[in-house]
Amino acid sequence: MDLTYSPEEESFRQQLRSWLATNLPKSVLRGAEDRTNVDKTMLVRMKEWHRRLHEAGYLALSWPKEYGGQAMDAVRQAIVNEEMVRARAPGPIGGGIPLLGPTLITWGSEGQKRRYLPKILNAEEIWCQGYSEPGSGSDLASLRTRAEIRGDEFVVNGQKIWTSGAHYSDWMFCLVRTDPQAPKHRGISYILINMKTPGITVRPLVQMTGDRGFNEVFFDNAHVPRENLVGRLNEGWMVANTTLFHERNALGSTVTTQRLFNRLKDLAASVMRRGQPLTKDPVFRQRLADLEIRVEAMKYHMLRQLTDSIQGRNPGLAAMVNKLVGTELNHDLATAAMEVMGDYAMLARGEESALDHGFWPYEWMFSLGLVIGGGTSHIQKNIIAERGLKMPKGR
Ligand SMILES: Cc1cc2nc3c(=O)[nH]c(=O)nc-3n(C[C@H](O)[C@H](O)[C@H](O)COP(=O)(O)OP(=O)(O)OC[C@H]3O[C@@H](n4cnc5c(N)ncnc54)[C@H](O)[C@@H]3O)c2cc1C
Repeated sequence: MDLTYSPEEESFRQQLRSWLATNLPKSVLRGAEDRTNVDKTMLVRMKEWHRRLHEAGYLALSWPKEYGGQAMDAVRQAIVNEEMVRARAPGPIGGGIPLLGPTLITWGSEGQKRRYLPKILNAEEIWCQGYSEPGSGSDLASLRTRAEIRGDEFVVNGQKIWTSGAHYSDWMFCLVRTDPQAPKHRGISYILINMKTPGITVRPLVQMTGDRGFNEVFFDNAHVPRENLVGRLNEGWMVANTTLFHERNALGSTVTTQRLFNRLKDLAASVMRRGQPLTKDPVFRQRLADLEIRVEAMKYHMLRQLTDSIQGRNPGLAAMVNKLVGTELNHDLATAAMEVMGDYAMLARGEESALDHGFWPYEWMFSLGLVIGGGTSHIQKNIIAERGLKMPKGR
């Protein structure tokens, strides 16, 4: 494993770093702290930022050139991810770039790629993910939203839940049941639904962070053209898994975790306990050391995965390990910070006496959501055990 970057890669990094320093608007930077609270003004700014990233050539680097990408290897994409996190720059808006784009590149028809990918790249159309339903989250394949074929259309009835960003999205990539008689994984199709279709109602759900991040979405005889089917009829489960692979990969970022760890260390250094900074307390130092070991192990795991990608090996279940390890570690770091702050942990952003600008109570709640979203830790562990380690299936 080679842990160094080539001179070209280093110069790409430097160019990006200075581009971010001059182009990242302060308004977007401030808004990025409210990670899921996207109001109308913020939506306009986020779309504008998304477009700027695209025009500068920093979006979808690995997509093929004919679809607006740059056919670059995973190292450049990793550098972009690292520098964006370092600059606290928000990523592109919606699920188009990280989730649907790569899925369409694998499974979409030529017409679908030409129709949808350019509008994902320039933020003209924002996408949300319609997978989970009441009673079908971990057991996603039990989903019941029904799409009946009538002529050239699907007629969709049912309900989705926890749909992030549905209230500002133009389109949804959605899993629907098209053959209720088939075994549950075999009767599902993957379709693209325009959110303005008559018969769709979006109702907000407020998260414990106080943000309106996700929604319930109801379908009452919503008509969707049959040409919006991605992949083959009743074979949507495979398409859905391509999206999930990209989602789980995106949810574990070492740079985010390293930044959280550094922020925790700074916080501990600013808090006095028995006449000295907490970072000098032997018991707390042990805790910090344990956390740092986990942060470093995660970093090297990601580098190994990057090497696999460059050398053309499929990272496979390693992506799932990122999601599991990264999201749990982020939440453990926030938990340690909450304990460091003691009673001050009750003070949220905006409170005058809040420590570290009230960052940690929000982060603690937000990071807990990511342990659940994209598939809970229990489910990741089951998959790693059964498919990766070939352990017997639990009952
Ligand atoms: C912040 C956030 C954003 C989200 N955004 C979206 C979105 O945009 N689109 C979308 O479709 N969904 C979204 N979700 C939903 C998410 O995918 C589900 O919450 C998740 O898959 C868990 O499903 P559930 O909530 O129904 O919990 P359940 O499946 O009911 O699970 C409840 C508990 O039981 C455990 N459990 C269940 N089955 C097993 C098992 N076989 N073995 C061991 N333990 C098990 C789970 O780990 C969990 O602890 C989001 C969720 C969050 C938190």
